[in-house]
Amino acid sequence: MADNARRVAVISLGGTIAMTTQTDGGATPTLSADDLVAAVPGLAETGIAVEVHDFRRLPGASLGFSDLLELAVMVATLPVDGVVITQGTDTIEETSYLLDLVTTGDKPVVITGAMRNASMAGADGPANVLASIRVAASTEARGTGSVVVFGEEIHAARWVRKTHATSPLAFTSYPGPIGYVAEDRVRITARPGKCSTIDPRSAASPAQTAIVTVGLGDDGTILQAVGDKVDGLVVAAFGAGHVPMACVDALTDLAKRMPVVLATRTGSGPVLRHTYGFPGSESDLIARGLIPASSLDPIKARILLQLLLMTAATADQISKSFNALS
Ligand code: ASP
Repeated sequence: MADNARRVAVISLGGTIAMTTQTDGGATPTLSADDLVAAVPGLAETGIAVEVHDFRRLPGASLGFSDLLELAVMVATLPVDGVVITQGTDTIEETSYLLDLVTTGDKPVVITGAMRNASMAGADGPANVLASIRVAASTEARGTGSVVVFGEEIHAARWVRKTHATSPLAFTSYPGPIGYVAEDRVRITARPGKCSTIDPRSAASPAQTAIVTVGLGDDGTILQAVGDKVDGLVVAAFGAGHVPMACVDALTDLAKRMPVVLATRTGSGPVLRHTYGFPGSESDLIARGLIPASSLDPIKARILLQLLLMTAATADQISKSFNALS
């Protein structure tokens, strides 16, 4: 290996990519980071030096904020050119954005996983790991913030969504991937820029947040009940940020007691600010103290809100952070 070989750390958190089917038929995480890397054909020929770290062996659903904050501290201290995190796809939308918010510097942080476990025909883990290592080692990906690499596409953490429960092409983003990998080349076609950064060591205060999705005929009862249990709330509203007029009183009351973020449940596009004027419209709710999430979807808006509350941010700082979003 050349002395100047690029160096990448692969950190395994578990998930389908690390799972094998057991004799009782269920898939569970059994593979180490070493096993994952050893299963990648063509890796040695890339000349990229790879070190492996077993960090957790959990399904994506059981990862928590403390796991990710500890991981972010580790990522910052590793003396490598880039980092690949392999984990369960169920929470990649959340963990990738969380890492985007708490990591600094230009070092690429690439999150990947697999939809088919290592025992299945057409297991996608090895190809995703190889493409991710190429991205993490590349100079092209420096400064793009955290990215998700899946099916050779590169997605910005803040835009990526899991939009299929089983397909190997489960990840999409709006306005689209920011690049792709073909042969041995990494091509970046858009640079979303780095988000504001939160120090992972400062996110130590306990906080409870929730997302409430409004539905046809809601009268505010559920919003009020959830609001009584949390320190901050994300409302996944209709369209460009609308709720039934019967929810307006509950939201007005909640916004006086805690940060209430207004996001769209549609999956893409921004919450508007001053287009509609009916009771329960975006302009009405913003005037009542709700904080528009811009184009952050409800899942990512909750991550930002939770981290801000964990750093004991003031109401004003929380508003400013959301208002700074493009
Ligand atoms: N279906 C998941 C995955 O693709 C399971 C998990 O998130 O652990 O990895």
